[in-house]
Amino acid sequence: MIPQHPTTFDLTMNSSKNLCDKPEEACGVFGIYAPEQDVAKMTYFGLYALQHRGQESAGIATFEGPYVHQHKDMGLVSQVFSEAILEQLPGNMAVGHTRYSTTGSSRKVNAQPAVVDTRLGTLALAHNGNLVNTIQLREELLKTNLHLVTSTDSEMIAHAIAEEINTGAGWLDAATHAFHRCQGAFSLVIGTPDGIMGARDPHGIRPLVIGKLDSQPIRYVLASETCALDIIGAEYIRDVEPGELVWITETGLASLFWNPQPQRKLCIFEMIYFARPDSLMHNETLYSYRMRLGRTLAQESPIDADIVFGVPDSGIPAAIGFSQKSGIVYGEGLIKNRYVGRTFIQPTQSMREAGIKVKLNPLKDVLSGKRVVIIDDSIVRGTTSRKLVKALREAGAREVHMRISSPPVTHPCFYGIDTDTQDQLIAATKSVSEICTHLEVDTLAYLSWEGMLAATGEDTNGFCSACFTGDYPVAIPQQVKSSKLILEKANQYAVL
Ligand code: SF4
Repeated sequence: MIPQHPTTFDLTMNSSKNLCDKPEEACGVFGIYAPEQDVAKMTYFGLYALQHRGQESAGIATFEGPYVHQHKDMGLVSQVFSEAILEQLPGNMAVGHTRYSTTGSSRKVNAQPAVVDTRLGTLALAHNGNLVNTIQLREELLKTNLHLVTSTDSEMIAHAIAEEINTGAGWLDAATHAFHRCQGAFSLVIGTPDGIMGARDPHGIRPLVIGKLDSQPIRYVLASETCALDIIGAEYIRDVEPGELVWITETGLASLFWNPQPQRKLCIFEMIYFARPDSLMHNETLYSYRMRLGRTLAQESPIDADIVFGVPDSGIPAAIGFSQKSGIVYGEGLIKNRYVGRTFIQPTQSMREAGIKVKLNPLKDVLSGKRVVIIDDSIVRGTTSRKLVKALREAGAREVHMRISSPPVTHPCFYGIDTDTQDQLIAATKSVSEICTHLEVDTLAYLSWEGMLAATGEDTNGFCSACFTGDYPVAIPQQVKSSKLILEKANQYAVL
């Protein structure tokens, strides 16, 4: 399976780690308790379905009684694991992780799960999200002469739990106490010799779902998204709630609220872009939500044109919605090379000069002489969009109207998404009118913040949308803030 994720028009790389001019997801997590199953193989497929959430490294830890077997390495899930390696991972339960580094560098030692020994046995922790109090937590942990092996906040959470256990607490008390020391975003799957925990921070910023296998007794699965349940034939039951801790053992699934005052703030970008379109959130696929964004966009910013299409793959559902609402014919104006993953090899100068389209290629006969509407889910730096527009014009498009199915990204994320520093976000430094000129489009319109939230059909207070507003639901310490938050700017949505 080719990961459905960032699309890059060409490969004129810059020096940033975020190479594809899109916000980068942090991680995918997976856990399974099923003594009757090949848990390593099921975790492999779960991670395979979550590959879009992180492509730097992957790891699986299995529990066989008190023994933990693990394998982790840099690379895609399919590169890190083979049949032979999976056979070396026996056990009753497993924890898996696929990573994109937002805290800690991209090195094998930082690959997860983070495995730590405790008084009660070994724990293996997989984390999606980012803590914002890492500096303080690290200082606290180092006071106890702890030797931190990695540079990740995830290892710190594992050590915070171990510290509690080593001073006498049981698994659940230790986890609960440790979670109270953590601020920021964390969706966790934690394997122990006695069972698997799944937990979310009090705002539930990153997703985490529970599924069950069609088995007797019922066996449970935890995953970042429902697409990872589908691939192993598990049925989605419900989300792990913000501030909840679930404990999966031989006797089934137990739940406690480690934080009595959860305040739901799911990352809206998960719904717009990060999570797979076939994953369920709020009891519908994100494909349906993204189509609704397109319909709202067409209503808010209509345009007269001959054809509408999306930037593959993430812009397609919104483009279909835009077409449905506007009556403009939906078509394909760009073809994606579905057999390329991420490449770090720079194209040659002659390739660049010839405008070689490495990942997306415009359809000249479709575009020639047409007034086109191109839909994308977001603009981060704008470098890709600009090249894309140029290529559409070179392919013969008479007019290019760009519509974006989210508001302008004006603020960086501190909760586990890599959006660079604020000064690199084009909407933080330019007005929509200036962006329109910069991209060389005839018109440009973003979806309104209100339209984005209303399209969820949910309580609009239940989402984090800080990268569009700067209104961060978990306070960011000044030291962390100043690393990314450089400018301030008011929102504006369209130049028509
Ligand atoms: S700041 Fe943006 S990307 Fe980060 S959690 Fe909030 S909505 Fe998601």
